[in-house]
This record gives sequence, C-alpha cells and structure tokens, in this order.
Amino acid sequence: MPYSSRLPGGGMRFEMASRFGHTPTADNPRIQERLAHYRKPEDCFDPKRIEDLVEPTDKLGQATQPTIRYVVAVDGSGHEYEETFDRYPSTRVLYLQIAGVFIDLEHMSEHEGPFVSPSKIAEATEAAVVAGFLPGSFLEHEKYTDPRTAFRAELFDLFNATRIQQQFSLLDLMLEVQKHGIAPDQQAASRGEILLPKCPNDSCSLNDSNVARSRGLCVPAHSMIPCPECGIELWSTDTFRIFESFRPDASNGEVMGRCRDIVEHLVLVGVALSLEQLYPKLLPQTAFLYDGDLAVFGEAARIFRGLLGIWQAIMGRCIKRDQQPPVVLGIAKTGYPVEHLHGIQRFVPPGSYMRLDDSYMHEVLRVSSLTETYYGRKFFYHASDGQLIVLTVPPLEGRAYAKSTAGTPDTDSQPGRFPTLERTFRALDRMGTRLYDDAVIPVSLAHTWAAYPLNNADHVLRILTEEKLKKKS
Ligand SMILES: [Zn+2]
Repeated sequence: MPYSSRLPGGGMRFEMASRFGHTPTADNPRIQERLAHYRKPEDCFDPKRIEDLVEPTDKLGQATQPTIRYVVAVDGSGHEYEETFDRYPSTRVLYLQIAGVFIDLEHMSEHEGPFVSPSKIAEATEAAVVAGFLPGSFLEHEKYTDPRTAFRAELFDLFNATRIQQQFSLLDLMLEVQKHGIAPDQQAASRGEILLPKCPNDSCSLNDSNVARSRGLCVPAHSMIPCPECGIELWSTDTFRIFESFRPDASNGEVMGRCRDIVEHLVLVGVALSLEQLYPKLLPQTAFLYDGDLAVFGEAARIFRGLLGIWQAIMGRCIKRDQQPPVVLGIAKTGYPVEHLHGIQRFVPPGSYMRLDDSYMHEVLRVSSLTETYYGRKFFYHASDGQLIVLTVPPLEGRAYAKSTAGTPDTDSQPGRFPTLERTFRALDRMGTRLYDDAVIPVSLAHTWAAYPLNNADHVLRILTEEKLKKKS
C-alpha cells in the first residue's frame, strides 16, 4: 500500500506517522529492507551498564525535611499571527505569554464534585505574568524601518516594561543573572552593564566577535547607546543574539520560542528572588519547576552560566541561613531520553533513580553540547507509583556538565553534588501522576491543588501569612 502520493504539481505527499504505535514505515517494503541494517532501540540497551548507574532513592541518605509544600511553575506559550494587515498574509506578528502558578500542595483545589471548573483553573493559570508583542515578517516600524532593528527594539522594550512580582523588570533580572555569569559578564554586570558578544551591524568591525571581545563591547542594561564604531542603536537584550535568527521575510516561530524560553527561565529566578526578599522562610519549602530541561539552546545559550550561578547563589544563601535550599528542577516530557527511559524501565525498579554519567549522555542518549547549554544535570526517576520522569537538577557547586578530558573517571553525576535530590524525588512523589498528564505542568497541578496566579504574589503571600497567624492564635 503506498503511503505517499504524487500531488498535481509533481510534489510528494507523505502520510504522517501515527501516534498509536503503527507507523507507515512498517508497510513500506523499501524502508523495511533498509531498516534491517539498523538496530532497534531495544537492541542497544545494556542492562549491566544501566544497573551500575541505578540506585534506590532511600540509599541517598540526604535531608528529607522540610517537605516541599509549594510549587512555582511557569507556562509559556506563543503564537505567530499571520495576515497582521488585511490582505497581506505574509505580514506577521509574534505574541508571547508567560503564565505562572503558585501551587499549595497542602490544600486541595476547592472545586466541587469530581469535575473541576475550567474557569477556576483558567483564572489561576492564565493570568499572564508576561505578555508581549514582537514584530514578525514584513512589518516596517515607523522609526526603525529595518525589520530586524524593530525586532531588537521591541525585545528590549518588552524586557524593560515587564515587571515580575512588582519588583524586578526582566532587564533587572537579566543583569542579576549576568552578575553570576563568566568573569567578563560579571565585571560588566557589576557596573550595571551587559556585555555584548558582537555588534548586530554586519558591516561594523565589532560584528566580529573576536574584535568585540577584545574591546569589551558593553552597553548599559537599562538604556540604548550607539555603537562606538558604527553608531547603530545597541540594546542590552542584543546579548541574546536572537536577532541573528530573525527573518524579515519568513516565519519566526523558532525566534519566538527562544524568546519565550529565556523569559521563562528569568521569571522563575525572579519569583525565587522575590520570595527570598519577602518571605525567606518559604524558600526551603518551595520547588521551582521548569517545564523542560534546565538548559538554554541556540544563540542565547551562554546565559546558562549566569542562570546556574544565580540558582547556586540562592541555594548557598539558604545554607548560610541554616536552611535547606529550595528544590529547583526541570521536567522533560518529550524527546529521546524520555522514550529511552520508558524503554529501559524494567532495569530501573520503582523507587529508584538512575544517574547518567557523561558517557551515557553522549554514547546512548546522544545529547551533544551539554557543557555549553545545561545548567541542570539529567537524572531518570522511576517513582514507586510507576511514574517515569526525566528531570534536570542544578548542582550545588560547579558546572552541571564539566568539560571532561577523555579517559578520566566520571564523578560529576554523583548524587553528593545534588543535595536536594532526595527532596526533589519526594516532591515528585507528592505531585504524583498529575505530572504524567499531557497538559502543561501548571495546568495539570492546578487541577488537583489550590493554585494562585503568580502575577498576584502579594495576594498569595498575604494568604500564607494570615494562615500562619491563624495557626499561632
Ligand atoms: Zn557597530
């Protein structure tokens, strides 16, 4: 049976693979014949190698108190609207929205009956913390006629105008994060400046990143300055280099995804910093949950160093206050590592976890450029209730993945570097099968537990404070 058909124009139309197990490749004799030369994923499993990396979670011997009671989770979405102007389908705008929830795992959701009220969940999860416009293709700004310049200007504006927890703008957070980046980023940030890897103008000498680096091209975090060489506008948000992928004449879905990811990472940091300022006792009982890997991909990847640094600083300050650090984790729901864990689950008994050393990451999971992107380290977890979770957790000190020299034994995946691991697993047990849903994490959680919109943190904190006072009296 043919699974492709010739279209009138001569192009081929291919059937999409089914999500329900049966794939058209099984019926295509040509594909089957060639596939015979490839190993099935199952045939690559190495039980001995897996068992060496698996351990029951109760062998960890780490702190189990305080129990995680609160979860902060963010959910970003974005949409590229076509036909921004009537009858011009190629004119596009990008709209991104980040919503967040503060979940109280001790209070069940107050919805009545077995069915939850969609409006209540919407109320808690859809109140956006960040909502922003970015120009897409074929849009000419009245001042910045070059579409890429308009995009850069609007990105800066979004970062300048958006405030997290009424305390920090996204620019403030970017600056805080860079204070924990690599040395040149730290030095610039300590002066209120952001280091730019290059000038965006292709014909400027500072467009060469080596020249820009040796000159130390910096701009104030909160205002535009002209390039010292070519005079074009430079904004601090140019440091993410997202403009390099911006296409003035085509779809920019990927560009929007990159912006959304960066903002999500910053929002979680912002909420943690604000909790620390306003209510530090809450921090050790809180899990900060990122929907995806704790990693930054693409041109903006270098900010992963600052993100790691700031989380380590927050954790370190907790320890100095004689508190346990908060739980910080990312959960990946798709991708090959998730499929792999499902495949090998019989070698990872319920109630145990698997650390993933560098060679397993590279040779089996085929994850590359780990050292340049990840600020959390990947673990597999098979919960007692059967959940299979691929998570990333930041180490208390050092890099998540160090640049290792070949032949040296791997010590970086040892659980001792991740003192929150056992509390992380326990928090996951508590959240239970809710994380298993197809829905995005904040929405899943809000179905079961009391959820407060993050854009209203004052309100949340007031509720929690009043609750404590009630308990005391
Ligand atoms: Zn320049």
